[in-house]
Amino acid sequence: MASDRKEKRTRRQERKKKERTSRPATYDSGVLERLLAKVRPDMHDHYRMVYVEASRIRAAAESGSALVDDLNGFIDKTCGDWELRSRPACKAGCDWCCHQDVLLAPFERDVVVREMRRLKLEDKVEARLAEEKHFVWVPSERKKMPISPCPFLEDHRCLIYAKRPIACRTQYSLDAMPCERAVRSAMESGTDVSYERAVVPAAVGVASRNAIDRKRRVSMRDELRRAIKEGKRERGGVSRE
Ligand code: SF4
Repeated sequence: MASDRKEKRTRRQERKKKERTSRPATYDSGVLERLLAKVRPDMHDHYRMVYVEASRIRAAAESGSALVDDLNGFIDKTCGDWELRSRPACKAGCDWCCHQDVLLAPFERDVVVREMRRLKLEDKVEARLAEEKHFVWVPSERKKMPISPCPFLEDHRCLIYAKRPIACRTQYSLDAMPCERAVRSAMESGTDVSYERAVVPAAVGVASRNAIDRKRRVSMRDELRRAIKEGKRERGGVSRE
């Protein structure tokens, strides 16, 4: 019993240490300048402001999950201010943008998986992932990506809304028609039709994600599959695969 507790404590300490040490180096002006070269010139000031603030939040965060929470607060505030000025078409019940795979920044993976487990959604998510039918070829990712409802989408609402990833938080459109057209035509033709995202929230998302980590982004659906498998293995269950 005592050795179990000790083992658990050691595992917890190791996990925290890994989280801390895997945190990337903080704000780097050279990196920012290279990133700005790929951003529309009229967005530079906004992108720079978001990148610097997100880097400051990252440097101050105690852990990966605290970083995600703090960053989400900043993103909601920034996008909320923009929303008041710009009146996007997005509203509860509209879910066209939830028909694609979501790319997660490194620490978001743990936040999403923890929320799925807390809400006991593993079986539901697994069944939905197994039902995916429509895929499109995405050249920038060099792979086929699903163009079907997100496994967290239910009755046109997000089951993990409070913990949804940065990519979802910053997905705004000024007109819902192109969003619908993008999904329908991708499902019918199998070709990638990009969503027309509103520029300011998109820049907030990209700059924030880049401030966490520029390179490592993972597919949410792949990570959910992996986490469900791991959960089963830990409980001694048999994987359905
Ligand atoms: S996590 Fe939520 S907001 Fe993001 S794609 Fe899935 S259902 Fe939509």
